[in-house]
Amino acid sequence: MSTEPAERFDEHSPQGAPKEPALIYFDHNASTPLRPEAFEAMEACLAELHANPSSLHREGQRARAAVERARAQVAGLVHARPEEVVFTSGGTEGDHAALIGAAWALESRGRRVAISAVEHHAVHGAAEVLARLGFAVDHVPVGVDGLVDPAAIDRLRPETTVFSVMLANNETGVLQPVAELARRAAARGIRVHCDAVQAAGKVPIDRDLLGTDYLVVSAHKLGGPKGVGAVVVRGDAPFEPLLRGSAHEHGRRGGTENLSGIVGFGVAAERAGREVEHEGARLLALRARLESGIRAALPDVVIHGERGPRLPNTVNLSIPGARSDHLLMSLDARGIAVSAGAACASGAVEPSPVLTAMGVPRELAICALRLSMGRTTTPAEVDTVVATLAECARTARAAATGVIR
Ligand code: PLP
Repeated sequence: MSTEPAERFDEHSPQGAPKEPALIYFDHNASTPLRPEAFEAMEACLAELHANPSSLHREGQRARAAVERARAQVAGLVHARPEEVVFTSGGTEGDHAALIGAAWALESRGRRVAISAVEHHAVHGAAEVLARLGFAVDHVPVGVDGLVDPAAIDRLRPETTVFSVMLANNETGVLQPVAELARRAAARGIRVHCDAVQAAGKVPIDRDLLGTDYLVVSAHKLGGPKGVGAVVVRGDAPFEPLLRGSAHEHGRRGGTENLSGIVGFGVAAERAGREVEHEGARLLALRARLESGIRAALPDVVIHGERGPRLPNTVNLSIPGARSDHLLMSLDARGIAVSAGAACASGAVEPSPVLTAMGVPRELAICALRLSMGRTTTPAEVDTVVATLAECARTARAAATGVIR
């Protein structure tokens, strides 16, 4: 063992950042704390399994067995078959592998794909790659509720080969009617790629009931490690590998497997699947407490996407006149971590494309804040967030009376 002191991370917090009060973490849609069981499994893996899972000797086969156990655990989370799971470096790679891999495999039928207007940057990015390669990309709009109208599938151009739609939106939590969209797409011979990165572990998922051909999940959104995920490719779905060079993952993704990451992913997926019903009900009650508390304190609050079905853990809201960046910073100073629903670049606030696609006016969209709860969230934390948000909103509104950019 090394005599060097172990790397610590509290030293790396920004200069002058307050150490107290203890952090209330309301940003579970950005990433989640690692589950202790996943940590333990990863620690054992890092200590004990050093061989390459592709090696034929016994040590290699022990590593292979760990990968295959995790594959079965991840398949179990979405009720798919283990051999349909292709491990990736996360959701972003999974979305690229699925959309580009499907479009390439189907290109003799057409060089056209469609994506919903509210997809994550990872899917927009994959579509941009396809556009650079000469594919046509259509964007399917959503209504004010954030939902894709299933009839939009019937209007897709006949040469469309793949339609990409997320299960749950990362900003608003809005759940798309994926089963109905996939049913209509299948009737037209269009394959469906579903980004289930935010939904997995938060709502039960049955891949066969959804009817999707390519389903993408990511470990760090469900208590697993960062930098590992999977695309679940239905048995008969055409798929060309994005990363090539060797026959890993049955020729569907080249590169030596991220062994400890995959092991941690498997354990987290298994635990998340086991807890999803119970945890979903708990979070739904916390969400109701959060929303009613905020409404009582700030009656003009607007909750985005509340008319449709939503994830139980997510609240995306705007407090008119209280800009996202001001709120985020003052909540952070009081030990509460949230996300801004608007991007801030060089002092100017840009509204989120997701909220814009839902028809939210700019002056409201630049006030959007995303509060996302998770496994560690308690009712007491919810009450503290309500009280602190009300206080910060008053300050942010005062700051905004002079300047709204
Ligand atoms: N898709 C959605 C809906 C997401 O929310 C995210 C991450 O925020 C991703 C894809 C990308 O996943 P990863 O961070 O694992 O690359």
